[in-house]
Amino acid sequence: MKKFGSAQLWSMVLTTGLLVLAACKPAQQTAQSQPAAAPNTNSQPKLIIGITVDQMRYDYIQKYWNDFGSGGFKRLVNDGFFARNLHYNYMPTYTGPGHASIFTGTTPAYHGIIQNDWYEPATGKTIYCSSDSNATGVGSTSSGCKMSPHYLQSSTMGDEMKLLSNNRSKVIGIALKDRGAILPAGRTADAAYWFIGGTEGVWATSNWYGDALPAWVNAYNANGEASAFMKQSWNLLLDESAYDESMADNNAYELPFKGTTRPVFPYVMQALAAANGQYDILKATPFGNSLTASFARAAIEGEQLGQDAFCDLLCLSFSATDYVGHQFGIHSREIQDCYLRLDRDLAELLNYLDNRLGKDQYLIFLSADHGGAPTPSYTTSEKAAGGYWKSDQIEMAIENKMIEWYGAGDWVVNESNCNVFFNAALLAQKNMAAKDVQLRVAEWLVTQPNIATAFTKHNLMTGMLRHPMADAVQLGFDPERSGDIIYILEPGYIEYGMQGTTHGSPYRYDTHVPAIFYGWGIRKGSTHAPYAITDIAATVCAICRFNYPNASIGKPILEAISNP
Ligand SMILES: [Zn+2]
Repeated sequence: MKKFGSAQLWSMVLTTGLLVLAACKPAQQTAQSQPAAAPNTNSQPKLIIGITVDQMRYDYIQKYWNDFGSGGFKRLVNDGFFARNLHYNYMPTYTGPGHASIFTGTTPAYHGIIQNDWYEPATGKTIYCSSDSNATGVGSTSSGCKMSPHYLQSSTMGDEMKLLSNNRSKVIGIALKDRGAILPAGRTADAAYWFIGGTEGVWATSNWYGDALPAWVNAYNANGEASAFMKQSWNLLLDESAYDESMADNNAYELPFKGTTRPVFPYVMQALAAANGQYDILKATPFGNSLTASFARAAIEGEQLGQDAFCDLLCLSFSATDYVGHQFGIHSREIQDCYLRLDRDLAELLNYLDNRLGKDQYLIFLSADHGGAPTPSYTTSEKAAGGYWKSDQIEMAIENKMIEWYGAGDWVVNESNCNVFFNAALLAQKNMAAKDVQLRVAEWLVTQPNIATAFTKHNLMTGMLRHPMADAVQLGFDPERSGDIIYILEPGYIEYGMQGTTHGSPYRYDTHVPAIFYGWGIRKGSTHAPYAITDIAATVCAICRFNYPNASIGKPILEAISNP
């Protein structure tokens, strides 16, 4: 893979163009322009594995505890440190922002990944968070390879490790999802690999990282592992009686796979493949996670991670839990079984690391990119509050209201992710002050059903807000990329189909995620003290004596550190 020289590395960091960078610049220049000091092998672990479990709610740990084996989640919790009250401190709680925030130790306001997809007023286009029109695929010609971290505006833990070690630390990202691999690893990463489904079934990358796949990736893609999973059926791992934490298998709150009528086991891969995107079917089953774990072990060997004096970082994201969660919801046997199988995959990975690197020679942290809402069609059937939101209807209602107030015109150019974008050219043409229009529409918006509150861009830019959710909105707000108004729904409301679930809100079901630290430098224990997602990177950087990511706003969880 392409290796960046010092000058290149530094110029790439400069192009991230962040205000905070100015404050960090002297320290980084010193680290980069002088040879790194001889490594102290006692001051860092051999390898850090940062695990993100996509859509993992905090409560899954206790809910499924009795069904876990002894070597996976139980080993991490019992022998590691568990921060039990750690939350996302911003909205929107989506995958791209979540992965970026864990590893940059900051929020969308600084790292710039404000959504998975955001509207760009200058072009009228929707931007996907890890897309890159200048990138070309390496290992696949799929459009799913035109990806890179170029929208990421702040440094990651891995970027800082490479600066400190004079580029001798290796940083690799791996996930089924491109954004789950690319954003955690950061702009100066050695590599990021994601899974291309369809008829290909391969791990691939883009030319951001280099011009050819390493031999070990080609060898892995040729080894038949993905096609072997396509011959399998997904059945319950344990006896049916073990799934009493979940609903009956056949219920109205889960979405069946395409081409089928009932959401029930067993799921036969070969029977489902044609209607569900061929190899893409693996992403929506636990086989996708097992394939990810297997590829991660191949990466540890292929890249010789943890084998020299300079600490390496593997950013490993398990994406299948999110696909299964969306389709079947948080109450399903499918999601429970997905976690029981991930538990076994984690146990195997930990055993592998013990044998390869030695016990306590590696550091693991595990968290999630967001939680997930209880399925409203189910919870409302049990008389809970909540329901479904239709953003196209509110967009039309805002447009009609503005026509009533201001006359005919195409006033709203986009409404997405609870962001409303006005037609700036029309406002300018009519000589209307944006802040006045924002305020008038926001005041009307909060009178509408199921909208809890609304913030204007003007108020967010001036920072004069006093509302319990104001900090969460502020930390997710980027003046260049966010809308004229950001609104919050009432709790329990989602924009989604009636089966399965989603996430994105600032409410506890979406913000509360597990944060577990295990291994090198970690003190056994747990805490109920409140922490934020941005504290994870700070904790790991403190333990390993790394510089914090340049826009980090986190504080280390001192209780987790064995020798703080
Ligand atoms: Zn996600």
